[in-house]
Amino acid sequence: MLAGCTALVLAVTGSARSAPRSAPDRQVLPANDGWAASGTGTTGGAAADPAHVYTVGTWDQFKAALTDGGTAPRIIRVEGTIDADGPSCASFTAPGYDFATYLKTYDPAVWGRGRNLDGEPDDSPEGLRRASQAEQEKYVKAFVPANTTIVGIGKDAGFKGASLQIEHADNVIVRNLSFESPLDCFPQWDPTDTADGNWNSQYDSVDLYGGTHVWMDHDTFTDGDHPDSSLPYYYGRIYEQHDGEMDIVKGSDYVTASWNVFENHDKTILVGNSDSDSTAATDRGHLKVTFHHNLFSNLVERAPRVRFGQVDSYDNHFVAGDGYGYSYGIGKESRLVAEHNAFTLPDGAQDGTILKKWNDSPLTADDNDVNGVPTDLIAVHNAQAPGEILRSGAGWTPALRTKADPPQAVPGIVDHRAGAGHLC
Ligand code: CA
Ligand code: CA
Repeated sequence: MLAGCTALVLAVTGSARSAPRSAPDRQVLPANDGWAASGTGTTGGAAADPAHVYTVGTWDQFKAALTDGGTAPRIIRVEGTIDADGPSCASFTAPGYDFATYLKTYDPAVWGRGRNLDGEPDDSPEGLRRASQAEQEKYVKAFVPANTTIVGIGKDAGFKGASLQIEHADNVIVRNLSFESPLDCFPQWDPTDTADGNWNSQYDSVDLYGGTHVWMDHDTFTDGDHPDSSLPYYYGRIYEQHDGEMDIVKGSDYVTASWNVFENHDKTILVGNSDSDSTAATDRGHLKVTFHHNLFSNLVERAPRVRFGQVDSYDNHFVAGDGYGYSYGIGKESRLVAEHNAFTLPDGAQDGTILKKWNDSPLTADDNDVNGVPTDLIAVHNAQAPGEILRSGAGWTPALRTKADPPQAVPGIVDHRAGAGHLC
């Protein structure tokens, strides 16, 4: 098996790199491979000494490996699927919390729709829900320190229900791991979120919160056994127990996401999470992210939704399914470049919905194919949504790319090589 894997690595990358490659757990981001290659580049834990190489198979072992050894470079090798969702939702429930009472108390017919639940006291149903959620949060969140590589070993490594936090940490690599979305046991009802209200949840599978020089490579993100279609409805609204698959917020910078699969999810990736003045102060000039050779499959929206950032998205394959909303969300002060991508839309889906205008920010969208046909994404959007005209010209040209493939080749290249299980 090792010989076959070595041959595959050489076949795939031999033309782009002349140096021999090390084992996946010691590999670093190649030069010029996206925004994470800028400045110091991204090496993760490649320099770890033997005392800081950990092989883990449980959530407790994983968390211990994250906190051992300060900021010395570390490599954490993940074997098999780590169950990070705890024994049960009941195990996190605060004494006195009762969901039936919660539903009765905040029923819109009783509570109304004009105010949210934020000021509710600690001994109220909402206060007890908050306390329960805090217990779950302590369990499912794991904080990744600087100079770390987390790598799955073999073809079936990953996490079920984990929420990795790359919070104000620099130089992190996450590769060859499957993430099944965390399920929030205690979604919050917000009567003021849209006219109908919404259930909102915490926990992204991976959260970049002020994280810098991060390489997400050959990972798979999915709702797995609990898609939104399996979730109940309360107050006529879906009881949404998921948040994002990978959110990049709060001044995060220099991120490369390559060869990942993002699938079977609603709100997939935020780059920037608010238009507010305080968020602008943190995010403006940052949120520089490259997405290349990713498969975005059967998603509703946000692949990604961008605010402020200079995002380069090239050579990705987008496959829309039922309930498709949009792929790229064009938000405040964003400067998206989307080139050489392939879109596969089902019958009846309009190519003008690939772009969604949230804000008047110009973008570059050249050399993209829709169902194999070269398509000017901005022109078709503007023709189909004349009330939401988008402007062309992001005002910058990505310099940090390795090799760009033509869009007609992208599905064949990406579909069978992206995601976890394709490194050895
Ligand atoms: Ca469990
Ligand atoms: Ca989020």
